[in-house]
Amino acid sequence: MKTKIIVSACLLGENCKYNGGNNKNEEVIALGERFELVPVCPECFGGLPVPRVPSEIRQGMVFSKNGEDLTEQFKTGAEHTLYIAKECNAPAALLKERSPSCGFGKIYDGSFSGKLCDGNGITAQLLFENEIAVFGESSIKKLISLYS
Ligand code: SF4
Repeated sequence: MKTKIIVSACLLGENCKYNGGNNKNEEVIALGERFELVPVCPECFGGLPVPRVPSEIRQGMVFSKNGEDLTEQFKTGAEHTLYIAKECNAPAALLKERSPSCGFGKIYDGSFSGKLCDGNGITAQLLFENEIAVFGESSIKKLISLYS
């Protein structure tokens, strides 16, 4: 039986991104040969629509570009993702880099100017706190070496 890995649905080509598009990545899709990929979109799980106004994290809270506090929706999406990860016993997650939900290590700094800062998206942080290893799309090789 293949190991289950949580994957940001937008990396698999789902049109769940804020602008209605996706972040389809063939290298991520090819991981399906080694692992059972379990797609998640925390922002959709949190009840946010597609398309939606983009959001960024500022001082631990999530705000849309038009100033709406969406922290609760992001937290709901994170909890839902964690529930799925636990249910399928996934040891790791491959999440879209820099997103306010899925980013790990570097995220946009809250100024909506394209600048990055150190930090984790709300879902990435919750998975990490629950001992699920988090990888971004630029560290696929590391994930393969550790889990296949
Ligand atoms: Fe992709 Fe994550 Fe954003 Fe959903 S929340 S569109 S999975 S980066």
